[in-house]
Amino acid sequence: MIRARGIAAFSATEPLGPYAFERREPGEHDVVIDIKYCGICHSDIHTVRSEWGAARYPVVPGHEIAGVVRAVGTKVTKHDVGDRVGVGCFVDSCRECAHCRQDLEQYCLEGFNATYNGFEKDGETPTQGGYSDVIVVDENYVLKVPDALTLEKAAPLLCAGITLYSPLMHWKAGPGKKVAIIGLGGLGHIGVQIARALGAEVTVLSHSEAKREDARRLGARAFASTRDPRVFSDLAGSFDLIVNTVSADIDMGAYFGLLKRDGALVAVGLPEKPLVIHPFPLVMMRRSYAGSLIGSIKETQEMLDFCARNAVAPEIELIGPEQVNSAYERVLRSDVRYRFVIDMAKIG
Ligand code: NAP
Ligand code: ZN
Ligand code: ZN
Repeated sequence: MIRARGIAAFSATEPLGPYAFERREPGEHDVVIDIKYCGICHSDIHTVRSEWGAARYPVVPGHEIAGVVRAVGTKVTKHDVGDRVGVGCFVDSCRECAHCRQDLEQYCLEGFNATYNGFEKDGETPTQGGYSDVIVVDENYVLKVPDALTLEKAAPLLCAGITLYSPLMHWKAGPGKKVAIIGLGGLGHIGVQIARALGAEVTVLSHSEAKREDARRLGARAFASTRDPRVFSDLAGSFDLIVNTVSADIDMGAYFGLLKRDGALVAVGLPEKPLVIHPFPLVMMRRSYAGSLIGSIKETQEMLDFCARNAVAPEIELIGPEQVNSAYERVLRSDVRYRFVIDMAKIG
């Protein structure tokens, strides 16, 4: 066993605190990674607060993991000691279902092995995430961090980056396409950069007027404050694709009218409550409402390489592990520019 030190949630209501635990003994296909940085995703907060169902405490959150390989098993061929690597939202999957075979493990029909608040392959050992100093992962679920990306900036790409890259590719954001991103947070600010790098014309739909200049700087052609109801008439019928990254329960009804005929609004944000929508605006213009979940290992590697080639990188605020609770409060106030990343070297 490998001793690990982490930061865990012990209940839905208490602050996170230090937690010592053990990682599994590495097998012949495993990679042992010294975690250097871990991003704070809003999903960490939804999970530890049991907003998506009861969490299994203690939970060490964190699925935006970047680090350096400490050791490799005897049969590992893809990674070497000293390599700069990343781990995202899942650490294994069944590998046999139709989706796993098509490089779509995020939709594994058996359910993937989530990086935290899930189970290892044995089906009983709880997985623990990246707010910790070390992790053991099968080599096939470990990504390579390109040289052009620093580890601290690579970390948020492992969830936020792939969660926007995948739908932007699937719904073919590119030259001649008008794309809107709702919510300029961790996911949204990377989405703006990726959509722009793909050649699309990007608009940010935000409830924070103070982010107007940032949206432009990140590559958006336009910024619209969703607090102003006129936006919904002025921009009616404008977009081929809208990606909604909002973490809170908002009234989606008005947003469908912003799509062109045959346009798609894709949900990636996962608020706590179900949504009530009227089908009229969808029916009238053959519009679609869809969803998208992170991305596969293959696509995540493609995304990392794309970001490295196109100078796409998150804007981060580096914090120590003891600042996690105050960082959560700021994320909840939409007051993060634009991703908190924990410096795991500072774990005590
Ligand atoms: P985040 O950094 O907190 O960003 C969310 C953004 O939503 C905020 O910055 C804010 O943008 C907007 N927002 C928040 N509260 C709002 C409100 N009351 N009304 C209107 N807008 C509001 O969160 P994140 O880490 O990017 O994650 C976003 C969501 O995606 C979360 O629900 C997370 O669980 C989910 N997620 C899904 C996947 C997937 O695979 N589908 C993967 C990762 C995360 P403005 O200030 O610009 O309005
Ligand atoms: Zn995430
Ligand atoms: Zn599978």
